[in-house]
Amino acid sequence: MAKKKTTFNVSKSENFSEWFSEILQKAEITDLRYGVKGFVVIRPWGALIIDKMYRLYEDELRAKGHELSILPTIIPEENFNKEASHIDGFAPEVFWLDKKQGDSRLAMRPTSETAYYEMFALWIRSYRDLPLKMYQRGSVFRNETKATRPLLRGREFQWIETHNAFATKEDAEAQAQEDIGITEKLMHKVFGVPFFPMKRPKWDTFPGAVYTIGSDSLMPDGKIIQQPSTHLIKQSFPKSFGVKFVDKDEGEKTPWTTCYGPAMSRILASVIGMHGDDSGLVLPYALAPVQVVIVPFTGEGVDKAVLDIEKKLREKGVSVKVDDSDKRPGEKFFHWEMKGVPFRIEVGEKELERGEVSVFIRDNKEKVGVDMKSLARTIGKMGVEYDARLLAKADLFFEDKVIDCSDKVSIGKAIGDEKIARFSFCSVEADGEACAGVIEKEFVAEVRGTRADLDEKASGKCPICGKKNKVVVYAGKSY
Ligand SMILES: [Zn+2]
Repeated sequence: MAKKKTTFNVSKSENFSEWFSEILQKAEITDLRYGVKGFVVIRPWGALIIDKMYRLYEDELRAKGHELSILPTIIPEENFNKEASHIDGFAPEVFWLDKKQGDSRLAMRPTSETAYYEMFALWIRSYRDLPLKMYQRGSVFRNETKATRPLLRGREFQWIETHNAFATKEDAEAQAQEDIGITEKLMHKVFGVPFFPMKRPKWDTFPGAVYTIGSDSLMPDGKIIQQPSTHLIKQSFPKSFGVKFVDKDEGEKTPWTTCYGPAMSRILASVIGMHGDDSGLVLPYALAPVQVVIVPFTGEGVDKAVLDIEKKLREKGVSVKVDDSDKRPGEKFFHWEMKGVPFRIEVGEKELERGEVSVFIRDNKEKVGVDMKSLARTIGKMGVEYDARLLAKADLFFEDKVIDCSDKVSIGKAIGDEKIARFSFCSVEADGEACAGVIEKEFVAEVRGTRADLDEKASGKCPICGKKNKVVVYAGKSY
């Protein structure tokens, strides 16, 4: 019996990791042949998706009062040295240049606090200059010592970083909450990637921060993937750069600062992992570089009808592509399904006679007839329904993943079953690190912290040390 022709060597459910590597190549998202470890080429289809993400993020950030800026990629060593915990945290990962400026070494930025604060010291004078909310888009560079994986962990990645200064701690903390809201609005509601906002344990806090809130999402293999983080920065950090302002009471004060870093390349990994299937990418309608592909069949009047449909869709703001290449229809279908184009419209003589076209829907693979007269309007409506379907499916997957545990055995079982274990725990301050270390050692799982959006009440005694529990934590395997 002939083996059924499949698109991938493995199915997504049987070997997610292999499927993920294959889809990046087959859907032409990345090319790994550049030849420098940890650096990947993002091909046009991947770059177009990332470009859409950037636009959506930047529109949202600007609407919330962040101003676009472009700072140098290079940071002098003395800037790093001003905040001891920051340089300690990043030192092993910094790429240093061979060229020096005088005696000073120069670094490729791993993040840009130390560039922004240099300028904040010049730009901020009085309370009237606050809040100062800025952002830039670009690459950052981290000499990862762990194994690198395309989009998931690279030595260069594409992100946005916001850097913000406020007169009061309350204002800064409100910004951290606003950041979680942006992640919710875009990454969850538009891109269909659910997450938990997690306040990280003390030992996992960003170097130089009072606290860090990371967004933990999940891949289909049950592994946690960290998405955008927000940090409330210690005041000592801007202070060491001489950032200060004269307040309303005429007193000189140090502003509170925050930063937020959504990494587009990493969010793309989540989008691909969450929605893709064994035919290729499944892209949210809002993110797809091409939302509708039209495949014309030869026949009387078809060319004219296709031009007309294309025009009407474009007028409604739909991103549309006509595939009039020489390929056979089957090949075209295969290609655009791999690329994750949400809708494929087939137009031939038969369709023209009926006055309706066939629309193939990528996620559920259904085919429906749509009246040509109302096509553009109907596609818009179908796009909204399409994204709602992807979101509902992702939410359902996510809801199922958290298991309440009360002892070591149940924690081990939950993690072994590729779930997230939720349990009462002694502490997420420095004194809890040893217990977290035991969990890491025995189950190869990390204690990710406490919910930043919920107040979950602890009970009982720590499953590791037996001391009274103070917090509810989540633990799981992670990327
Ligand atoms: Zn403990």
